[in-house]
Amino acid sequence: MNEKEWDRLEKEIINCKKCNLWKTRNNPVIGEGSRTAHVLFIGEAPGYWEDVKGRPFVGKAGKILDELLESIDIDREKVYITNVLKCRPSGNRNPSQTEIESCVPYLDRQIEMINPKIIVTLGNFALLYIAGKFGLKQENIGRIHGKTLKIKTLFGDLTVVPLYHPAAAVYNPLLKKTLLEDIGVVKRLL
Ligand code: URA
Ligand code: SF4
Repeated sequence: MNEKEWDRLEKEIINCKKCNLWKTRNNPVIGEGSRTAHVLFIGEAPGYWEDVKGRPFVGKAGKILDELLESIDIDREKVYITNVLKCRPSGNRNPSQTEIESCVPYLDRQIEMINPKIIVTLGNFALLYIAGKFGLKQENIGRIHGKTLKIKTLFGDLTVVPLYHPAAAVYNPLLKKTLLEDIGVVKRLL
């Protein structure tokens, strides 16, 4: 594990002004969990509570993510959890293309350092970015959620599992049921 590289990354994100979101954020959310995780979860961007606490998935969507992890018996500390954007877009609006382009080099470095076997994308923005990065066919989340997409990289085999965003399940029990079924795929892969 590459501690100096991680330190450098953290410092850069804390001081980052590459897009306008640094002006309105309270705290950047770098990510947390195991730096040697086999499974990397990628969400969209920090929300209200994530921005307050500087930690990923600690609000309502985070509770759902915790339930998903618990359902397959995986400790939150054993995976790594981060987002496409490291700072909160105010009002929880969608990330803009400029913001995504400015921020994803950080995510790229995290992916490279962690070198996960499985990437679970949470919602459309993470799926879009990861599909683009690895040259996967762009498909709608409604069609490919819970499927396994196999990729050969220079560093070994990688499987991408697209999931709906947990926030979408907060007031939708049906979607939560789907998420609970889909996360089972990750358990079977491990
Ligand atoms: N939604 C996200 O996409 N990421 C978080 O960290 C929290 C909510
Ligand atoms: Fe920098 Fe990303 Fe925050 Fe924009 S969202 S200021 S690119 S860390």
